[in-house]
Amino acid sequence: MTWLDAIAAKALNRELPARAEALAVLASADDELLDVVAAAFRVRRQFFGRRVKLNYLVNVKSGLCPEDCFYCSQRAGSSAGVLKYTWLKTAEIVASAQAGVAGGARRVCLVASGRGPTDRDVERVCESIESFRRRHPDIEVCACLGLLSDGQARRLRQAGATAYNHNLNTSGGHYAGICTTHEYADRVATVITAKDAGLSPCSGLIAGLGETDEDLVDVAFALRALGPDSVPVNFLIPFDGTPLAGQWDLTPQRCLRILAMVRFVCPDAEVRLAGGREIHLRTLQPLALHIVNSIFLGDYLTSEGQPGSADLAMIADAGFTVEPPAVPAAASASPAPATPHPDLVHIRRRGPGTSLPANT
Ligand code: SF4
Repeated sequence: MTWLDAIAAKALNRELPARAEALAVLASADDELLDVVAAAFRVRRQFFGRRVKLNYLVNVKSGLCPEDCFYCSQRAGSSAGVLKYTWLKTAEIVASAQAGVAGGARRVCLVASGRGPTDRDVERVCESIESFRRRHPDIEVCACLGLLSDGQARRLRQAGATAYNHNLNTSGGHYAGICTTHEYADRVATVITAKDAGLSPCSGLIAGLGETDEDLVDVAFALRALGPDSVPVNFLIPFDGTPLAGQWDLTPQRCLRILAMVRFVCPDAEVRLAGGREIHLRTLQPLALHIVNSIFLGDYLTSEGQPGSADLAMIADAGFTVEPPAVPAAASASPAPATPHPDLVHIRRRGPGTSLPANT
């Protein structure tokens, strides 16, 4: 049995790998990359077959955040030039969410910038959730509104929210290096609050923030301990105008190793390939589908993704199927590491907050 057979066997039994095994995935050689992907695929296949779940982001309040998360284009003092608008109206939110559903999304994620919502903000979002769920009772709704106060998670659940997203983002040890206005423990507490209120917990990470392999394993293990149903894995989009501008530390191979490590640590969680996939995985995106079972369709919160039609074509080309509602199918050398690709980051100028149609 190879070391990859051993870690895959544990994952197939929902056993946590040893820390050294998780680190070995991140440290594996390029020559082993396809073996790593194949081992992770065995786990993905057991729990999710060849299905891909599509999720759709609606940025219901963009920019103007008082917090200082170093990676975020919406942070206080950001000069990234992203769209800035206050709470969208219910009709706008429902229309945007419906565009995602029409594109094949099974979950819509209503995301607002800010440290956390007031009770009035929560009522606003609840009105949108109720309105959307009346039209689409079969589509999941995830809210992502920041740190929650007493009672807010229960109110969201009562309005029909399925899930709550709040990412840990990085390890507890690295957290002070990416944010000074709130703490790692605040994030952990909100994930627990949401879970305790009956919301499906969604919590993940961002890679490329200057973290070490140990940090990545720490955050993956911390996520496992929280028991999230879904784990979004983001890759830093290094916006100009933010403290992490120009930080292009990731290669496509490293992204695949990170995804595989998360799959081994959280074997039966919905591992979602999230922001930054196009610009960091680039032509290796289809390989990632062998590890993750979920992606975002279309655009991200403040940057544009590839066209929704390209997402669907990629899924079909790689031999996977979109989760219901079914959508018809429409080098050995490593690439240079840390190459800047600023031309690949496009500020979103369409969809919510604009008069242009959404990218679906
Ligand atoms: S990640 Fe959230 S809390 Fe942090 S700056 Fe961005 S919008 Fe604000």
